[in-house]
Amino acid sequence: MIKLEGKKALITGGSRGIGRATALLLAEAGADVAINYVRNEKAAAEVKLKIEGYGRHCLVLKADLSQEVEAKKLVEEVISVWGKVDYLINNAGIWTYGEMGQMSTEIWRETMQLNLDAVFYMINAVVPYMKKEGGGVIVNVSSTAGVRGEAYHSHYAASKGALHALTKSLAVELAPYGIRINCVAPGWVDTDMCAEVFADPEFRRSIENSIPLKRIAQPEDIAGPILFLVSDLARHMTGTIIHVNGGSVLCGA
Ligand code: NAD
Repeated sequence: MIKLEGKKALITGGSRGIGRATALLLAEAGADVAINYVRNEKAAAEVKLKIEGYGRHCLVLKADLSQEVEAKKLVEEVISVWGKVDYLINNAGIWTYGEMGQMSTEIWRETMQLNLDAVFYMINAVVPYMKKEGGGVIVNVSSTAGVRGEAYHSHYAASKGALHALTKSLAVELAPYGIRINCVAPGWVDTDMCAEVFADPEFRRSIENSIPLKRIAQPEDIAGPILFLVSDLARHMTGTIIHVNGGSVLCGA
């Protein structure tokens, strides 16, 4: 039912975790997919191989997106090969610990540079091409933390909350150009990002118990809603935040 043949998707942080699952799912649905990696070229090459297994084209490019020049270069490189980007998935992000009163400015800036500034760099670079094409879809991967806050991760929560405001603002600004923009806000997901905290079985169990659906999401659980959002099934949706958290933020939980 969802058919993305002929579509070109650019997925940041597509070499692992949620980005990887999204890259594979969009390719399975028919899209050609470009991903970046920072250090792990081997992981990115493995994703490329899988995508090619679906008969799709995959571009793998090295880019540290916290640097504006590298973000712009990534977009230009994809454009130089494909001439367009139909879907931009801003997925790359970091989650670090920071206790207020002791948090260094470096920790704060590092989070803002990737989780927020890089999203601006990517959207700012892609939008002129989407306008030229007469449309496009952007999905920002935010977080439950951006909705309800997160103690000891206030910098992370602030960066993700800012994505919600950015998304809602641009939804109206870009609608006349046929560009839709939405957020997917995951709760806990079983990826490398949380591997260290989930290594403690007691902590993991306490998290599972706190989630109404009593399970921690797999990366594929987030990729599904992203696929839906880029597809025409979501053609009337823009400026929304899709919460994918097993019911975690409901007041009755
Ligand atoms: P992950 O750590 O497995 O993946 C993060 C990705 O970001 C990696 O592919 C990495 O290469 C990329 N990245 C890191 N620094 C980068 C940089 N400077 N330039 C370019 N790319 C860079 O984690 P994940 O769980 O797959 O996270 C994906 C997104 O989901 C993030 O935005 C994260 O904040 C969000 N999220 C994750 C969870 C969770 O519990 N895992 C919950 C809510 C939201």
